[in-house]
Amino acid sequence: MIDFSTMPKAELHLHLEGAPRWATLRMAHQRHYGVELPETPPWYTPDFRFAHFGEFQALFQHYIHPWLRTPSGYAEVIRDVVDSLLEQHIRYAEINFAASLAEQHGASLNHVWEILEAEIDRAQAQNCVIRIFVGLMRPQGVEAAITWVKQLRSVEVVSGFDLQGDEVGWSAAQFKPALDLAREVNKRVKVHAGEMTGSESIRIAVEDVDVDQIGHGTSAIQSSEVVTLLRDRKVTLEVCPTSNERLRNVPSYQEHPILDLDAAGVTITLNSDD
Ligand SMILES: [Zn+2]
Repeated sequence: MIDFSTMPKAELHLHLEGAPRWATLRMAHQRHYGVELPETPPWYTPDFRFAHFGEFQALFQHYIHPWLRTPSGYAEVIRDVVDSLLEQHIRYAEINFAASLAEQHGASLNHVWEILEAEIDRAQAQNCVIRIFVGLMRPQGVEAAITWVKQLRSVEVVSGFDLQGDEVGWSAAQFKPALDLAREVNKRVKVHAGEMTGSESIRIAVEDVDVDQIGHGTSAIQSSEVVTLLRDRKVTLEVCPTSNERLRNVPSYQEHPILDLDAAGVTITLNSDD
């Protein structure tokens, strides 16, 4: 049997703020707020399912936000995520960083870039390459996305931008001007699509925005045309089966379309999300 724990791996879909380990978070809450959290949270059990995305978001805000608001929060979270990648024998990682969340919590972006640079160097010394993608939140609007890209596209530690959030209210096509500004200076762009909505969202990201790497893409399986499009354009899907299952975007691992997409010739990668 293959030992996956020590096998060298890549992780292409990981949100920095959702990736620190519970044990580290628990110690941080104890240290910063004197709060005793349980040794294991309920969502670490195999049969746990979030009632809906809102429940996940509420937990995230309850446990992660207070930590990020402490002066050393970002340094602690980043260090733990890098430790976790190294421990998992991950050799290449693309990490999504929510710059707008950092700003919201009053963190200095320049300070965050410094920490990221140092941690990327530390990982590199241990054969792990890390690339940072700034998350662009659809619900914040097109103008905000353009402003973020203009502000951050010259930051060296930023490898690219990743469009995310509400796919129903906001089409990826609306954000093409922002993503083009990133491409203009050779930054990479990715789009979350087909996670909680149908395959049309994926088609738009590939055909109208010309993206070659899609976050999730799970619902592509609903359309043979979209599957063909992904295969012919050699689009890479960042599939996150555990996330999809826990958030009830698929009923179970057994019914997850990852193997069907793979069999159809789509480029599949296996990732965590949070
Ligand atoms: Zn994601």
